[in-house]
Amino acid sequence: MSDSERPLNFLEHIIEEDLKNGFSKEALRFRFPPEPNGYLHIGHASSICLNFGLGLRYNAPVNLRFDDTNPAKEEQEFVDAIKRDVEWLGYKWDTERYASDYFQQLYDWSIFLIKDGKAYVDSQTSEEMATQKGTPTESGTESPFRNRSVEENLELFEAMKAGKFDEGKHVLRAKIDMTSSNMLMRDPIMYRVLHKAHHRTNTDWCIYPMYDWTHGESDYIEQVSHSLCTLEFAMHRELYDWFLDQVVEKEKVRPKQREFARRNLSHTVVSKRKLARLVEEGVVDSWDDPRMPTISGLRRRGYSPESIRSFADTIGIAKRDNLIDVSLLEFQVRNHLNKVAPRVMGVLNPLKVVITNYSEDSEEWLDAENNPEDESAGMRKVPFSKEIYIEQEDFREEANKKFFRLKLGKEVRLKNAYIIKAESCTKDSHGNVIEVQCAYDPKSKSGSGTEESLRKVKGTLHWVSTKHALKAEVRLYDRLFTDESPDTHKDKDFMEFVNPDSLKVITGYLEPSLKGSNIGTQVQFQRLGYFCVDPDSTSEKLVFNRTVGLRDSWAKIEQKN
Ligand code: ATP
Ligand code: MG
Repeated sequence: MSDSERPLNFLEHIIEEDLKNGFSKEALRFRFPPEPNGYLHIGHASSICLNFGLGLRYNAPVNLRFDDTNPAKEEQEFVDAIKRDVEWLGYKWDTERYASDYFQQLYDWSIFLIKDGKAYVDSQTSEEMATQKGTPTESGTESPFRNRSVEENLELFEAMKAGKFDEGKHVLRAKIDMTSSNMLMRDPIMYRVLHKAHHRTNTDWCIYPMYDWTHGESDYIEQVSHSLCTLEFAMHRELYDWFLDQVVEKEKVRPKQREFARRNLSHTVVSKRKLARLVEEGVVDSWDDPRMPTISGLRRRGYSPESIRSFADTIGIAKRDNLIDVSLLEFQVRNHLNKVAPRVMGVLNPLKVVITNYSEDSEEWLDAENNPEDESAGMRKVPFSKEIYIEQEDFREEANKKFFRLKLGKEVRLKNAYIIKAESCTKDSHGNVIEVQCAYDPKSKSGSGTEESLRKVKGTLHWVSTKHALKAEVRLYDRLFTDESPDTHKDKDFMEFVNPDSLKVITGYLEPSLKGSNIGTQVQFQRLGYFCVDPDSTSEKLVFNRTVGLRDSWAKIEQKN
């Protein structure tokens, strides 16, 4: 379904309603406002696709705004990563903005609020302020400093800015209503002192504005028409509006905050703070570890921007928080890769097969189709010789009729090659099969058109010629957490649910056409899944990541339980 055909979501209905009521289409403007305190994750992808999608739908500008008001947690590395990820997802922002660009304007407005009797410096400790906050059913208590004179407030606030006070000594608060039923309206803090260098403004400032004071005013400065955020900000809307009321001029656009549900993905956590712990505590190697639900992790894992976008489109925008099963995301990537990924053969758990009636000195380069879903993908050659590998799981000495793979006395087809029949096998001292002897039918070559080649055999196996095989490191990933929602348990830390088997590293034996593959190359190992070349690869050794299996193996495991 193309974007213009799908039904409107509730946010688009709000916009349509505004247009109907006379809001000018030319004045529509959106923003995506990440805090640069970590890497973007799959939850952010929903917000990115929503905001940039609206930009495309209404041909309106979308800003990328860094919400950088907390120098303690923010870094340039994160700014760079966020820009890279938004671009990779396929979106173009109109202008790159920073809340820190507005520090001076915000300060000037605060002075204006103080002069207007709407803000004051409070000199209590944070504990004292907390006890005065009241409860949702009980009014708060006014601070003894609430009625300081304008002069005293100006003097103290300027001294705060000049760096004359330690952290925590004074804060600037908006003077709203300590009896409001909305706790956020009970004289919220606008500024606190932080003696920390900022990644952009360095040591220019030692007072930093709070989120609520910054966000709406930044929207207003940028003339954002619709400021879309997640549901946890629903209660903040009243304060967002109050702060706007103080500064909005008539002829300008007044931004409108509307909320939508946060997207959570099963078997992982989508919070930068929690993902940071996985990195810091060494559970994963980095923010872009292929097990991470970060955009960069998914990219390295082999996800395409298309599959992430269609995932976001499919789940759409909701009004209530809920958990999306990760298999939906996997379905999208499988769907996409099925169309574009060339098919190759690779054996991950090798068992040697000797073709007894094939000459030791011969080899053949057989024709193989690159992608049955895409004729233009063309053909390649794969080498065949006397000794090949198949998967251990594809051979049994004896098995029932439902086992369509190789068993003694029975035939299977080798993909792109010949029909073989298992004659005997050799075992080690523990009784494990270490070699199978087979005979091949020389007239049964795939695509040769002979009667023998058209013979129906039930099973087709992938294989590689042992002397031509390319050894590679293959990284098999599994869910990072064993629990469906690891961070929703009241009495347990989400780290307790880390899956100890989320990574398995093995050696794979691959067809030689893969030699020299570029980083990022995506292929289907036939019958096994989709894999891509990891940046850890060197000219000596390729490293492959399993993006996703061909089928949903977890669904099966969970059904059984
Ligand atoms: P985190 O807890 O991961 O840091 P956040 O909301 O603090 O999340 P921001 O960088 O402030 O992260 O988010 C930028 C934008 O993305 C915000 O508008 C936020 O509402 C939205 N967003 C963040 N997480 C999700 C999610 N899981 N689903 C949908 N939107 C999200
Ligand atoms: Mg945040």
